[in-house]
Order: sequence, then C-alpha cells, then structure tokens
Amino acid sequence: MRDKAIITSALPYANGEIHLGHVASTYLPADITTRFLKQKGVEAYYICASDDFGTPILIQAEKEKKSPQEYVEYWNRRDYEDFTAFDINFDFFYKTSSKENIEFVQDVFKKLYEAGYIYEKDIIQFYCNIDKKFLPDRYVIGVCPYCKAEDQYSDLCEKCGRVPEEIEHPKCALCHNPPVKEKTKHYFFKLKNFSKELYKWLDENQSLQKDVKKYVQNWIKGGLTDWDITRDISWGVQIPIDGAKGKVFYGWFDNHLAYISSAVKFLNDKGIDGKKFWNSADIYHFIGKDIVYHHYLFLPAMRIGIKQEYKLPDYIPTRGHLTLQSKKISKSRNWYIGLKEFLGYYPADYLRFYLVSITPYSQDDLNFDWDEFATKINSELIGNLGNLVNRALGFAKKSFDGKIPAPENLDNHDKEAEEKIKKLSSEVGNLIQQNYLDRALKKILEFTAYFNQYFQHKEPWKNSNSAKTATHLSVNAVASLAIVLYSFLPTSAEKIWSQLGMNKVLKQSWDSASDLLIKKDHKIGIVTPLFSKVEESDIQNYKKKFQN
Ligand SMILES: [Zn+2]
Ligand SMILES: [Zn+2]
Repeated sequence: MRDKAIITSALPYANGEIHLGHVASTYLPADITTRFLKQKGVEAYYICASDDFGTPILIQAEKEKKSPQEYVEYWNRRDYEDFTAFDINFDFFYKTSSKENIEFVQDVFKKLYEAGYIYEKDIIQFYCNIDKKFLPDRYVIGVCPYCKAEDQYSDLCEKCGRVPEEIEHPKCALCHNPPVKEKTKHYFFKLKNFSKELYKWLDENQSLQKDVKKYVQNWIKGGLTDWDITRDISWGVQIPIDGAKGKVFYGWFDNHLAYISSAVKFLNDKGIDGKKFWNSADIYHFIGKDIVYHHYLFLPAMRIGIKQEYKLPDYIPTRGHLTLQSKKISKSRNWYIGLKEFLGYYPADYLRFYLVSITPYSQDDLNFDWDEFATKINSELIGNLGNLVNRALGFAKKSFDGKIPAPENLDNHDKEAEEKIKKLSSEVGNLIQQNYLDRALKKILEFTAYFNQYFQHKEPWKNSNSAKTATHLSVNAVASLAIVLYSFLPTSAEKIWSQLGMNKVLKQSWDSASDLLIKKDHKIGIVTPLFSKVEESDIQNYKKKFQN
C-alpha cells in the first residue's frame, strides 16, 4: 500500500437517473475503499465525472428539444445530488465535456498518431438523405437478426441482449425512412499492436482479479481487432486533424481519459503536481463486469501508447450485475429502482448495509430481494449490531449514570473479549485491503454478535462483581465498532460516536480501533435507538408498486 491513492469508478452516463444496479457494483465499493484508505492515513482522493458524449445523449436531447450541453448539465447535477444523498463522498465530480478533458483527449490522440498507432480507413456507414447525417449506433433501428424483435437499435437488441452484426430492415431512428449506405473515413487505433504488452502487464500485475485476467488473456490469445474510434456525429470531442471535420471520438476513447484529466485538474487546483501525484499513487478503477473489455484492453493500451506518461492501474476491482427480484434490470421495461426513490423510503445506511452484504468481490451477479432486505436489516443491522450499541450504552447510562467505570479483576472471558477488540482493526482491515468488503462487514457482525453474547453471559444487571468490567469492555467494543463501521455506514458510525460522547469519528485513525479508547470516568452522551425496524406492510407495498 502506497501513501497516496487515486480512486475512480466507472463514469455515470449523463442520460438518466442512477439506480441501485449502478451503485452496488461500482460507487459503493469505491466509496468504502476511499474512506478506509483515508482512515489508514493514505492521502486518497475519489474522483469521478459524468460521461457526457455519444449518440444516445444526442438523440435524447433532440427528442427533448434541448441542446446536448443543457441536457448533460442537468444529469451531471442530478447524478451528483443522488450520489451525495447516498453518502458517496467524491472528492471531485467533474465531466468528460470539460475543457481540460477535451484538451487532454486531443493531446493523447496526437501522441498516438505521431507514434504510428492510428490509421485511416474507409468504412461503409448508414446515411439518412432526409436528415443529412451519418447514422451510427442508436440512430438506426430495425429488426434483430437473431430473435426477430422489431424496433431494436443497431448496436444492441434489448430483447435478446445480443449485438446484431447487421440489423434487418434498417430505418433512421429520427425520420423512420430507410437509410442508404455511404462511404466515410474513420480512424482506427492499432489495438492489435499492443497484444504482447497487454498480456505481459496482465501476467505481472498481481493485484488484478485472477478470473478476469484469465478471460481477458484468452481474448488476447484469440486475436484482438483494431478499434474504430470515430463517430460521424456532432456531439463529442473533435478529432484534431485536418480532414476530420465533423468527426468526433467514440465515447470509449475519451471517457476513461477523464479519470486522469479530472484528477490532474483537482490536484493542480489544490497546488499539488497532479501528474507526479498520479504516478506515485496506487490507482484504483472500480467497474462493473460489462466494461471489462474497455478497462483491461483499451485503457491500458492507450496508456502504454503514450509511453505510460500516466501509470497503469494497480487495481481494477470488477463486480457483477445486480438483478432485481431475480430479473434483469431494464430501464426501458421500467424494471429498476431509482436511487433517489429508494432513499425516500429508507436511510442510506440501510441500503449500504444490504448491498455490501450481498456483493462479493467477483463477477457473480447479485440479487436485490425486498424480503431479504427486510430480514437483513431487522435481524443483522438492528437485532445484532444496533442491539449491542443500545444495550451497552443504555446499561452504562442506567447503572453508572453514563460515567464509564474502570475494569477490575478480569477473568478469562474478559481477557478474551479484550483480545477481540485489539484484533478488530487488523482483521477487518486486511479484508478491506484485499477488496473483500462483504467479508469485512461479516467480520464486524461477528464482533458485535460476540459482544452481545459476552454481555448476556456476564449478566451485569444482576451480577455487581462483573458489572464494571463488562460495561467497560462493552462500551469500548462499541467505540471500536464505530471506527471500523465508518467506511461502510458513515452516518450511523457518527451517531454511535456522538452517543459515546465524542465528536467526529471520521478523524479517528483506523488502527486506533484496536485501542481501548474509552477510559475510566469518560462520560457518554445521549443514548437513543440507532435504527427503526423495516415494517413488513411497507415491504409488501413497495413490492406491489414495483411489480406494476
Ligand atoms: Zn434480438
Ligand atoms: Zn432520417
């Protein structure tokens, strides 16, 4: 672990609201990791941006009679608000359409061009004579050649999920007339040239997930194809070359470069040399498995192509997709839960708790289930974790007027409990460092379950011999809990900390969770229940609502 880190997560496409599927695999794990690194004393920054360019945005803006600028500005703001409500704490949230990113993208292109990694080739492309424009990707609709579904986009059939090689009965998505085929000049990136170096990089980087590496290496063995980085539309980063007028970069050429351009802007504005910082930091890119190809091949190849002026990622934590009640999330079929809507029903920490607990560090898909959500919140978060906090602090209040007694005459059980506190930060921390966030949370729940049992066994309410020591240790366990819980459930951890009579758990170092921080005579604050139960009747209502 270096003493500096830059954390990014896949950029949200500025074309619709953030839903639970987005946050589970990408933003939440990145947020937890960043908070943890900061607690560990690492100078860590979490950088993100909205992905503003591309055909779907242009089409939607045209439909809503807005300029694409206006359109993406709205979603940039809205996404940021929704993330913030979910306690996703970006250090900087910028945009791919920023002037810094545009300049950087053009600069990278020129370097690749001069190094001989770019070539021109004529391709055949649909063209609409009515609208007078080329029709890439979503501008063409037609019949899927595989499943015969009508009105599917030429770059993706939403019915069967496949990418048609050539759509049948093509129509212009704007005017619904059949397009013609025209020749147009496109720029290609020589991805094939990088096969060897990419393979080697994957081999040597021990921090990348083994299963992902393996199948990316199989793609390389199967032969990579050069990559068309051009689109004949108006909304994008202009290709900075004579004769490329009216042509822009394909979104996947420019969007991941915003990780760098946004980080560098943020750091430079702080008076830090952004490039130097980047190259001496651990670089994390958090993604979902649908964009493995882009992050394990395009992104490193482009950085290698500019002589690693900006270092390659150390970690690309890749996770699976969220399904909803065991069905694939689909915005067009209205089968999704908006983040904003969900946070109108339950606090952010409930969702954070549930999503972390069901999201493994692997590409396995995970499933949101309303009943499971209710059970986990009621029995694990409230019944186990919340119970310990309330019990230990409540007892200290009632029996000692909130003034923590000194321990005395520790028996073996007390000593074992003390050991548990001393080991907590390293046990949980090791798992977070290895990206096993679900297991780390489980470890925390084992800790609180242990102390619930300990407290129960000691019966301090009827056994005055053990009351002082049991209270002392249990309240200390709660303090340590607040520190390790902070990166997962920041709001609840702060609440616990303030009930303990202290201020700002976020300023507390991670390793201090292994100390017995609460000393004799410390006075705790006001104790109230942390959480309220998820009601079965509400769950039934939400379920019905989403089934309609
Ligand atoms: Zn199909
Ligand atoms: Zn047309």
